[in-house]
Amino acid sequence: MAAIEVQGVRKKFGKLVALDDVSFSVADGEFFCLLGPSGAGKTTTCKSVAGLVRPDEGTVRLAGHDVGDVEPNHRDLAMCFESYALYPQLNVFDNMASPLRSPRFRLSDDETRERVGRTAEMLGVAQLLHRGVDQLSNGQRQRIALGRVLVRPAEAYLLDEPLAHLDAKLRTAMRAELKSISHGDLNTTTIYVTHDYVEALSLADRIGVLREGRILQVGTPEEIWDRPCNAFVAEAFGKPRISFVDGGLVDGEHGLRFVSSDGAVEVPVPGVEATAGEAVRIGVRPHDLELHPGAEDVPAGRVWVNGVVYVLEHLGRQTEVTVQVGTALLSVVVPREDVPDLARDDRVGLSLDPCAVHVFARGEDERRI
Ligand code: ATP
Repeated sequence: MAAIEVQGVRKKFGKLVALDDVSFSVADGEFFCLLGPSGAGKTTTCKSVAGLVRPDEGTVRLAGHDVGDVEPNHRDLAMCFESYALYPQLNVFDNMASPLRSPRFRLSDDETRERVGRTAEMLGVAQLLHRGVDQLSNGQRQRIALGRVLVRPAEAYLLDEPLAHLDAKLRTAMRAELKSISHGDLNTTTIYVTHDYVEALSLADRIGVLREGRILQVGTPEEIWDRPCNAFVAEAFGKPRISFVDGGLVDGEHGLRFVSSDGAVEVPVPGVEATAGEAVRIGVRPHDLELHPGAEDVPAGRVWVNGVVYVLEHLGRQTEVTVQVGTALLSVVVPREDVPDLARDDRVGLSLDPCAVHVFARGEDERRI
């Protein structure tokens, strides 16, 4: 197992800046997720670690050694890319066994069979071992491609969207499987690429959020969820998404307060270090809001805002209610039975805990304040 350090890596393809000063490190045995939208540079980062892309600047270290001049096949990394390339002439067993047939492992046939069998069992493909590759669904191919990586010991695993082609149910099952593997048998340094925040939150020891070739934030799932470094990161995590309200900061009797541009939302912002007059945007997650369909006393320690129902979306046992407050739209999720007769344009109240409000600068960087 090896720690991975990526330091100041830049990569251009023609004029396109794919990686712009990317730095992060993955500790020995850590499961590190790279999360970002399409085109953010996740695959290019992985390929730079693997040696399949040569950075224009910066260094990659494996177990403390600069591997800039080390060929990919000498880096002892096991990789799985989204475009799973299996050997079409080999059956599933031989595809999975192929990495173990390298002379460096020197495994007996029995040991090879045992390792392949164990990995296939773990990934739920044991019954497919004698099939031809052309007799597999895309989801099965993807699991075999993942199996071909996990079957062999390596200094580190690089997994690029290994669950991308699975249907929702299988994806959830495989995610749970991977989590138990990664915290049990696997325990190998892993970089895992995904654009699915649920996957990142549930699998990662730490997450690096990438956007347009730049690392925006690196942190544990809790750190990134509780204190997103800017509005982009806040929006990338959570469904329904965080709601934003634009406004400014004003001085209040007990410290700074946020007042929305139209005056409809006013809330104290304890702990925010900024000056009155600053233009900001606040973010409130749906689960931090409470919906009050009738007039009630404001719950202790919470702030009340009045609005009208804008749209209701039924999500099985829960309902997402979008409430219009002045010109802003705030989403809240409530149990379905709590909103039996609610309809568009009904007057409702929302309450929130000021400590759950995220405050961001307005303008280009949208940084957390
Ligand atoms: P996705 O989630 O869609 O796979 P990604 O975050 O992995 O995206 P990359 O594949 O790393 O993003 O691509 C980053 C940028 O670099 C994109 O704009 C992509 O078009 C570009 N790019 C990647 N590889 C090449 C290449 N070989 N030649 C030219 N441009 C490339």
